[in-house]
Amino acid sequence: MHFSEQNSTFEKICSIPTDYDITFIKYKSRKTGLTVVLADIEAPLVNGFFTLATEACDDFGCPHTLEHLVFLGSEQFPYKGVLDTLANRAIAQGTNAWTDVDHTCYTITTAGSQGFLQLLPIYVDHILYPTLTDSGYYTEVHHINGKGEDAGVVYSEMQGCQNSGDDRIHLRMKRLMYPENCGYRSETGGLMERLRELSVDKIRSYHQSYYRPDNLCLVITGKVSEHKLLAALAPIEENIISKGTLPPMQRPWISTGNFPNLTDNITETVLFPDEDESMGTILIAWNGPMCNDYLQARALDVLNEYLTDSAVSVLQKEFVEIEEPLCTEVDFHITDHLKSTLMFTCTSVPIEEMEKVPSLFFATLQRLIDNNDIDMKRMEVVLEKEMLKLLDSAETEAHETAADLSISDFLYGAIDGSDLKKSVKIQQYLEQLTKFTKADWLNLMKRWYVDAPHITLFGKPSAQFAEDLAEEERQRVEKQRSDLGEQRLAELQKKLDDAKTANDMPLPNEVIENFEIPSVSTINFINVQTARNNDLGNFKNAVQERINRDDSADVPLFIQFDHIRSRFVNVSAHISAAGMPSHLLPYTRLFLKAIFSLPVQKGDTLLTYEDVVKGLSEDIIEYDATLGTSGGFREIVVFSLKAKASKYHRAVQWLEDILWHTQFTVERLKVLANLILNDIPQAKRDGHGMATASMRAFQFDASKSVSAARNILFQTDFLQEVLRQLENDPSSVLADLNAFRDALCRPENMRLHVSGDIMNLENPRTVFKNFSPATELTDLAPIVLSQEVLNPAGKTPGKVAAIVGLPSIENSYSLHTVKGPSRFDDPDIAPLLVLIELLDTMEGIFWKLIRGQGLAYSCFLNADIEAGLISYTIFKSPNAFKAFEQARLVITQLVNHEMQIEPSTVDGAKSAVIYSLVNRENTMERAALLSFVNQVLKQMPASYSRDIMSAIQNVTMDDLQRVLNKYLVHMFNPGTSNVVVVSAPAKIEEIQKGFEAVGFDMKSISLNDISPSFCV
Ligand SMILES: [Zn+2]
Repeated sequence: MHFSEQNSTFEKICSIPTDYDITFIKYKSRKTGLTVVLADIEAPLVNGFFTLATEACDDFGCPHTLEHLVFLGSEQFPYKGVLDTLANRAIAQGTNAWTDVDHTCYTITTAGSQGFLQLLPIYVDHILYPTLTDSGYYTEVHHINGKGEDAGVVYSEMQGCQNSGDDRIHLRMKRLMYPENCGYRSETGGLMERLRELSVDKIRSYHQSYYRPDNLCLVITGKVSEHKLLAALAPIEENIISKGTLPPMQRPWISTGNFPNLTDNITETVLFPDEDESMGTILIAWNGPMCNDYLQARALDVLNEYLTDSAVSVLQKEFVEIEEPLCTEVDFHITDHLKSTLMFTCTSVPIEEMEKVPSLFFATLQRLIDNNDIDMKRMEVVLEKEMLKLLDSAETEAHETAADLSISDFLYGAIDGSDLKKSVKIQQYLEQLTKFTKADWLNLMKRWYVDAPHITLFGKPSAQFAEDLAEEERQRVEKQRSDLGEQRLAELQKKLDDAKTANDMPLPNEVIENFEIPSVSTINFINVQTARNNDLGNFKNAVQERINRDDSADVPLFIQFDHIRSRFVNVSAHISAAGMPSHLLPYTRLFLKAIFSLPVQKGDTLLTYEDVVKGLSEDIIEYDATLGTSGGFREIVVFSLKAKASKYHRAVQWLEDILWHTQFTVERLKVLANLILNDIPQAKRDGHGMATASMRAFQFDASKSVSAARNILFQTDFLQEVLRQLENDPSSVLADLNAFRDALCRPENMRLHVSGDIMNLENPRTVFKNFSPATELTDLAPIVLSQEVLNPAGKTPGKVAAIVGLPSIENSYSLHTVKGPSRFDDPDIAPLLVLIELLDTMEGIFWKLIRGQGLAYSCFLNADIEAGLISYTIFKSPNAFKAFEQARLVITQLVNHEMQIEPSTVDGAKSAVIYSLVNRENTMERAALLSFVNQVLKQMPASYSRDIMSAIQNVTMDDLQRVLNKYLVHMFNPGTSNVVVVSAPAKIEEIQKGFEAVGFDMKSISLNDISPSFCV
């Protein structure tokens, strides 16, 4: 059928160009009230953010539970998982959603627009007409199982976060800030005690009230033809119209989102469970401006940056960068509600300092006002940086930037697009702010922070509270169990089993096969052109010619240039840490934390550390010193700086200064060592993080590996010793750190990368002429891969089996590893990626049989070629052993052909893997980085990613069986796999017994037992 815009029911409300390469077009249907915003962005990916305004005045969690139930099937497609299965065929990786306090957003990202438009009507059918069955509610939201325990996917999810420090503090703030009739006050995720009382009827009636076409906005970002979009919307409209008209609806939030301001100060303490009682959190909150007061909100953003953005900003300087830090982080936040809330957070505050921090904070702001103290030069730098960040985000996160603006506009803006027109003019507001005087800035601070009433909350960790919570919950479940009695429990178990069967209505193959897989050739990849310094004829392109012409000096360095279209340039040094003496390795964390905030000595001039931090913020928009890149290569130290293209030479100069001219000082080292130490208790509250850290400690050789030696678990003792040395014999520490630098920063260890608009850079090559102390290019030291620094337990898995107790969590996490392929050109990689996708994917095998059975919130496999290991993670599980046992059963059945892999699901998995590869190069910057990683670090051809895509398309069923037998079966054999479980103390015994029963010699240990020399 030919389609023309004239016969569309959609009216184009406005088309809004911006100064940052995004054009917004807003449509509204005359017939159904459906809103569509298309944000036109040049990129290979297309994103959907399908948003509903969702307001709730209680804590039953209707918005969040509904978000989960939408994925269980729709009127036209009444099958659980159909959406995710088809999404994969659309060249995507499943679908996702989030619930915020004022809206619910359903998301999808596809490579290219063809799959996106095919999926659009199916997705909208799920949102507007979900099945909302009793059985879906029972498994996905809440039920009581045969053991008398409360469960369900949403219930377990809230169990995992409701009592965390952050959630408890924020909920208390909301209760104090917002009145009874205001939805901002609610826990839209659902509190456990309310979820236990919720019913599916309540959710159905919530759906009826809020999930209506006139309360739905389809935000679409990327390259989509308007004409094709309107054609894809036509059947959606027809279907909505066929349902008849709805009664009129009051627009959510408009009458309830504004509320009276605080009239008095309120101070309270909020306890949260943790064994370690040393560090707390402080939250201060105020009423903020209305959301359409764009200039005021932008001004507060800039003021917040000025107060906290770097080591020389007032609040960081006086609260963080001091010998005994009052906190490790200071942070402002403005909510984007109809009337905003301003928040200030201090993280990791030593408990004995807590009481005094808020008064010091207010005294500091008052002092600035009294002394008329705003450094206008620095303010100018902050404003310029905000402008650059805006342009940068349009290059690196254009989709998210566009979605944020569109969602806020849909929730609170004028229907005619007039507010959207104002809200996109970010650059203009920043320009207006350059005219602000000192007095303007101080008045702003006085009005919103100093004079305004506020709420102060002290978040304090408490071991007693942890015990009380656990005991109260134990008693509640015990009472529930005995009240129900054995017969009723058996009935409940039967009801649960029936619900699972009812949910698992098989998806007919023809539904899958009717959904055409778009060709990979329809995706617009970003083109990157590579050149090298001192190239011997390997690269033949215009960029190489440009580099060759810039030949006025010798540059004895390895440099790769990757040309892309960008306003910015990235300069980075990737340095192999191979020759580092063992005793210096534990300094890695301190060295990386310090290196960008030290004094610099150049000839006779000494820049203080403040000068350096200020100078960097004038010239550089982002800088960092880390281990590794692209989620791997952790044996390589990476220094990176990003600047506007005209400041290329400054970026190179700063890199040289940082690498060779920084001065370690006792004063700075004390501050930084204390900051690292104060952050450790917070890191140790994270179950998944601790499972990863423990496994690394067991598998990598801390006497050879920089990443192993910096393990957070080893740092407490080491840094305390460093602090003692800094008091007693500081020269030894300074000598060690200088030796660390000398061993690291040698030209033969160094591979430089420059990415940006190389064709228009001034002296792209000779800007490096005085960079290195070396006069000729010696042979480069080989790149050290993670597989070369494994210890015996990492090289031959089968020796590690440990369970670690962690009192701050309520569930368990586990990590399992086996040997995997270790060469980047191994032919097993492509089938392994497809197999992993088949098992891991949403509504895939593990999802149905593990998450669907309530055994874990999620579980996933990862093939780490660089380490030569495959890992399997079980995330947030009531009992990690049960989830493991189920995975074992699944793999065994696949090996024995008792369970078959459907050919149509293999096609979906291939297309999902291709999506994930496209996603790695979806912005100019990422495409350029990938070019470096593939050609320099992996030493593969430039076509490496495309070659893998072709190999993926050619994977056969036999290939899948081969890699299943060759690798994954070993995960379940104690002789060939390593396992680390991190668990709530109450569950240790049961989990340990489970693993022992299948042959793992499981040792129960605590985090403090793990040291560089400790072996399980
Ligand atoms: Zn959820």
